[in-house]
Amino acid sequence: MVVNIDTFLALLEKEVQDYQVPVVDLIAVQTKDPFKVLVATILSARTKDEVTAKASERLFAEADTIQSLAGLDEQRLQKLIYPVGFYKNKARYLAALPAVLISDFEASVPQTMENLLTLPGVGRKTANLVLAQAFNIPAICVDTHVHRIMNIWGYVETKNPQQTEMALRDKLPEKYWIKVNSLLVAFGQGTCRSVAPHCDRCLLAADCPKIGVKPRKIKKSNNVLRLVSWNVNGLRAVHKKGFMDSLVEMAPDVLGLQEIKAMPEQLPKELQELAGYYSYFYSAERKGYSGVAVYARQEAKRVIKGIGDERFDSEGRVLTLEFDSYYFINCYFPNSKGDLSRLGFKHDFNVMLQAFAEDLATTKSVVICGDFNVAHKEIDLANPKQNEKHAGFTPEERSWMDDFTAAGWIDSFRKKNKEPEQYSWWSYRSRARDRNIGWRIDYHCVDRNSVKRIVDVDILQHIYGSDHCPVVLDFLK
Ligand code: SF4
Repeated sequence: MVVNIDTFLALLEKEVQDYQVPVVDLIAVQTKDPFKVLVATILSARTKDEVTAKASERLFAEADTIQSLAGLDEQRLQKLIYPVGFYKNKARYLAALPAVLISDFEASVPQTMENLLTLPGVGRKTANLVLAQAFNIPAICVDTHVHRIMNIWGYVETKNPQQTEMALRDKLPEKYWIKVNSLLVAFGQGTCRSVAPHCDRCLLAADCPKIGVKPRKIKKSNNVLRLVSWNVNGLRAVHKKGFMDSLVEMAPDVLGLQEIKAMPEQLPKELQELAGYYSYFYSAERKGYSGVAVYARQEAKRVIKGIGDERFDSEGRVLTLEFDSYYFINCYFPNSKGDLSRLGFKHDFNVMLQAFAEDLATTKSVVICGDFNVAHKEIDLANPKQNEKHAGFTPEERSWMDDFTAAGWIDSFRKKNKEPEQYSWWSYRSRARDRNIGWRIDYHCVDRNSVKRIVDVDILQHIYGSDHCPVVLDFLK
């Protein structure tokens, strides 16, 4: 299938009208200032637009000219631009930038690719964006979105952004050079996302060849409940990182959250009583620690807090909702800790939780969801050998998981998906998430009699805001 680029880009122009404008474009339009465009572009590399926008605002409040930027040292710059990606490197570039602009370019931003490339922290992508946005000079800025989407469309067949830029310079009509970046960045952030693009609502879907694409899954039938589990690592924190947007995208019927780290009264009003949902909380006694919550579209017939043991219940680890045809048990399993000092505590919890769930399963279906804090098999983590003696993959923890599944509890994800590299948690260190060096420790397990109710499973790796991502079970009503 050969895409008609004129038609595609014309359709996109209408489509992205209501989308958020990429931050560098916005700064270009609002300020018409090449210096600010250059600085914002340097800040924007490997950084979300919201973060770039706030960092630019803080920086420009203190330094909105080349001369005033020269008055800030590297340490102050680091403080102002944190938490943009690679903020230390970027602070170093920005500290060195004024001297070069003043000595080599008469205190102005140069207007050629060749000269821009001599500036600290400026590569082809940045230079192209500055030429296009600051000076309206035909240039194609190829970032990850442009590279990815042009390949999905089959318009180019390239391995990296630089090859894409060269291919587009040969092929793409010049009238599109300046605007193609804004169009595809907005489109790539909104609909044609890098993971699980929204092909189901894309106006190009009929004619797009979707090369190499794995579209998002949508709930197929009204006869299915979407049950989502997410360790949010702080509900207040994730709320500031787009939780409400993620909620719209996930569209859960029941959402189990772990590690909410808050008492209900500490939460913003819209989280205390989530619109469209019944809200249930079970917080730890200790402030800012552990705690679970459930949001459900339907009101629960009964709510059970804890599992009847003060050692665990004081930590707010289990919240169970009873519905007509099933129990939803939302769990935050203990972490056995780096020195394994809580291994025994965790084992006791596991055994009690299993007994609690088995008792409920004598009457109706049971779904246990949550952060189990254990990767069951080698396929469930990126580096099994290195982690054999580490918390979350010790023989003791895996052995309980063996016993648990042998007792008839079904890991719904593995029932449907046997693929490796399907992780739900990544360390914050060493860019582990970018490199997908992760663990699958978040589960939906169902009792053996309910296996036929498992319709579909998914791990929403494209949803950010926590070190875990949400996991989904579509469960027959
Ligand atoms: S149909 Fe899917 S892959 Fe194609 S452009 Fe739309 S969102 Fe992207």
